Amino acid sequence: MFTNTDLTGYTVLVAGTPEAARRAIRRYGAAGATVRTLSSPAAYKPEMLDGVALVVAIDDGDPRWSALPETCRRRGLLVSREEAAAPGGHVTLIGGGPGAEDLLTVRARQVLQEADVVFFDRLAPHRNLAEYAPGAELIDVGKRPGHHKVTQREIERLMIQSAQEGNNVVRLKGGDPYVFGRGGEEVISCAKAGVPVSVVPGITSAISVPAAAGIPVTHREISHLFTVVSGHAPLTDAEYEHLAGLGGTVVVLMGVGTLPQLTAGLRRAGMKADMPVAIVERGYSDSQRTTISTLTGVVTAAGAAGVKPPAILVIGEVVRLANGCEETAGKLAELADTLGA
Ligand code: SAH
Repeated sequence: MFTNTDLTGYTVLVAGTPEAARRAIRRYGAAGATVRTLSSPAAYKPEMLDGVALVVAIDDGDPRWSALPETCRRRGLLVSREEAAAPGGHVTLIGGGPGAEDLLTVRARQVLQEADVVFFDRLAPHRNLAEYAPGAELIDVGKRPGHHKVTQREIERLMIQSAQEGNNVVRLKGGDPYVFGRGGEEVISCAKAGVPVSVVPGITSAISVPAAAGIPVTHREISHLFTVVSGHAPLTDAEYEHLAGLGGTVVVLMGVGTLPQLTAGLRRAGMKADMPVAIVERGYSDSQRTTISTLTGVVTAAGAAGVKPPAILVIGEVVRLANGCEETAGKLAELADTLGA
């Protein structure tokens, strides 16, 4: 209620226990209002309504509030009845999906609606957070050029402290919290501190970003398995051998920086030189771009295109099915024949 209204210059009285009223207090404050609070019916004094433009009556379950709306009516004051904030004191890790707002899950939206504080990452959908989490303080803990990144330990400390203060804390991450998202570490830290924690899974970029470029990570007759690897650091030769030996699709996250080592390693391990490789940058954004090449050609192709993170690498025959891949049309027709479609 009144979330999109500029209330600068108006005084709003929020009536309800501090816990039940905490989100309304923040919301009206954020809308510019001067917020006056009344935490219990016993503390009411008539002069508290002087100069007030709106009374927000929070349903905190105390029956003694029943007289307040009538008092306000007699004084010609507008009353907005609002539900009590959900009890706080816990943390929810939310997987926000690959960046498109409409790939947030229904559950993610419900949890955000009730949040008091949201710690969000750069890769999580955050443009409309103020609308999705209307009662929340929004804290950007992501890496930004020119800004110092909040360290992982500091994020965990802030989350735990905020939950211990009674807040309903949301940690909003890109993709799924448990796929290279350090979700496990955050859950363990909360548990160690005795703070209840739950996890809302998200759509991982490992599958959805290739899909955005038309690449299915598995496809009948082409690939019956896929491996998701972090390219954060180069792999060992044994790992390159396992990957090449598997014969399925390889999906690499955080792999732009180590692309030369990766392709050389897979080549040494016996993967064929003309194995198709796709790089999908900024999936689900207006500037999404796919670069298609081969295992031996991709480093040059990436350099020529000026490929930058965030990007997903896909290595495998399924890349031939990508949108815009020269071979796609022919390959699909051929497949349709093989499958008897
Ligand atoms: N938990 C996340 C991954 C975090 S690691 C998930 O499940 O998706 C961050 C890496 O994810 C990036 O370096 C990039 O490789 C990949 N990534 C995430 N979102 C992406 C997007 N929209 N487009 C391309 N790559 C993306």
